[in-house]
Amino acid sequence: MKAKRAVVVGAGLGGLSAAAYLSKNGFKVDVFERNPHPGGYACSFVRGPFEFEAALHELSGIGPPENRGGCYKILEGCDVARRVEFLPISDFYTSIFPDFTVTIPHGWEAAEAAYAEQFPAERKGISRLLDTMRRMSEEIKSFADAASPLDLVAFPVKASHVVRALGTTTAQVMDREISDPKLKALFCDIWGYYGLPPSRLSWMLFALANASYLEHGPYHVKGTSQALSNAFVDAIQENGGKVHLRNGVRKIDVRDGRVTGVVTDEGETVRAQYIVSNANPIATCYDLLGKENVPRSYLKALAEGHIAVSTFNVYIGLDCPGEAIGATGHEYFINESYDQDEHYNAMFTTGMQKYWVITNYNSADPRVLAGGDFRDGAHHRAGRSRLDRAGARAICRDQGAPRGPVDRRDRQAVRRPRRPHLGRGSLHAAHQHAVQRQPGRVDTGVRLRRHRQPHDEASQPRPAGGAVLRRRVGAHGRRVRDVHTVGAARVR
Ligand SMILES: Cc1cc2nc3c(=O)[nH]c(=O)nc-3n(C[C@H](O)[C@H](O)[C@H](O)COP(=O)(O)OP(=O)(O)OC[C@H]3O[C@@H](n4cnc5c(N)ncnc54)[C@H](O)[C@@H]3O)c2cc1C
Repeated sequence: MKAKRAVVVGAGLGGLSAAAYLSKNGFKVDVFERNPHPGGYACSFVRGPFEFEAALHELSGIGPPENRGGCYKILEGCDVARRVEFLPISDFYTSIFPDFTVTIPHGWEAAEAAYAEQFPAERKGISRLLDTMRRMSEEIKSFADAASPLDLVAFPVKASHVVRALGTTTAQVMDREISDPKLKALFCDIWGYYGLPPSRLSWMLFALANASYLEHGPYHVKGTSQALSNAFVDAIQENGGKVHLRNGVRKIDVRDGRVTGVVTDEGETVRAQYIVSNANPIATCYDLLGKENVPRSYLKALAEGHIAVSTFNVYIGLDCPGEAIGATGHEYFINESYDQDEHYNAMFTTGMQKYWVITNYNSADPRVLAGGDFRDGAHHRAGRSRLDRAGARAICRDQGAPRGPVDRRDRQAVRRPRRPHLGRGSLHAAHQHAVQRQPGRVDTGVRLRRHRQPHDEASQPRPAGGAVLRRRVGAHGRRVRDVHTVGAARVR
């Protein structure tokens, strides 16, 4: 039988997972991506001797072999899981508030103990909150495993915690169980991942996503998220599909209310019965399909949406051990106050930002040299695919670097004299650079400075203005590290 044809517009994680799943299930798939590398946000980029992770820092739903999570099962379904190594992250998150610093581990009991140790008077409420989250997660799992239509009919009865969560905000549920505003801020400090403060954040989303972290632990992809994106490409191509880079889609053809194919940036028409668009919905409806081909109700729903918060990211390479700037954990949330609505609202103003996230990628695997091993002055990319190299070269070219293999350029970078230790001045310089590059778009009030919290305990992580490091071994045995900082500042 002739295989059904599908075109996927965009090779972000959304497009790649759809394409991998379709090609594994017998479809003939073509993916068109405008960028020179696959992955969309899930990529890495090279600067001098450093290869920086651009995005993924805490994956939920992976889990160890004996307790795999939902995300891992989806990756198995896409024939991708076996091609990627996931590295466990030791703790869930560390919160730094004006009065205290707490690290929340993963695991239900351990997390409960950490919250309760800081707020002993609230122990019972904490326990009830976590118990509700655990039950919701179990109910959803039973729904996913439902064997017969009868199971589905019984779902509202069997899944009472999930049903009760419908239409409830995270703040409403917390208000019922706990009373200390400082505990509420700590419990929800990860809200930045979900983009809304607890007063507006769906309890269902918060509870299920956090339950996945607590149940399975957070993970990082070995070799950066570019390795994950490349694994998707390998899976698609092995299953007979094709991924076309540097060639986007400029139009989706429609005839008699049905899609018939796409026109690529190179002007080629590719016929397909199915089109999956990974481009954003506004571009898909207005630019690719044409609004005359989209139901009015859908256009109305699109028009009612509003712009969400953005992040302003600073990527920093360090030439000192992370511990030297207090970065011993993986994920730090730095709060200037306990009012998360205030933090959220500040993201829509030009005022000082009050909430920062710092990621220390080296904590997940200090021995993985994401950009290569410079021990002998050469740049090795052991175990990485050809596409990876090509992607890295393409990234370098895109960044205005001279043509040529990334290996040679990186060797040269290693020989260059090292810059002075990165500190607050460098953060300001990075910010100024961003302001110059994006005039009028970057919030000039962004606070890029060290937190003023006193650090009287040597064991406490210091919220140095940047976050973390990916360890490198420098030429002649010198250790070089890089730091990735994610700051939740505003970009209009
Ligand atoms: C700093 C940062 C940290 C993050 N950390 C995490 C994390 O720890 N865990 C987590 O789960 N998520 C994290 N995320 C979010 C995650 O990276 C994104 O949600 C995800 O990568 C988005 O994938 P996507 O496919 O939806 O979109 P995108 O990555 O935006 O992909 C869309 C793709 O479509 C292409 N495209 C668009 N239009 C066309 C066209 N007309 N023709 C061809 N191609 C086109 C684009 O070039 C792009 O490659 C993070 C994001 C950032 C920025």
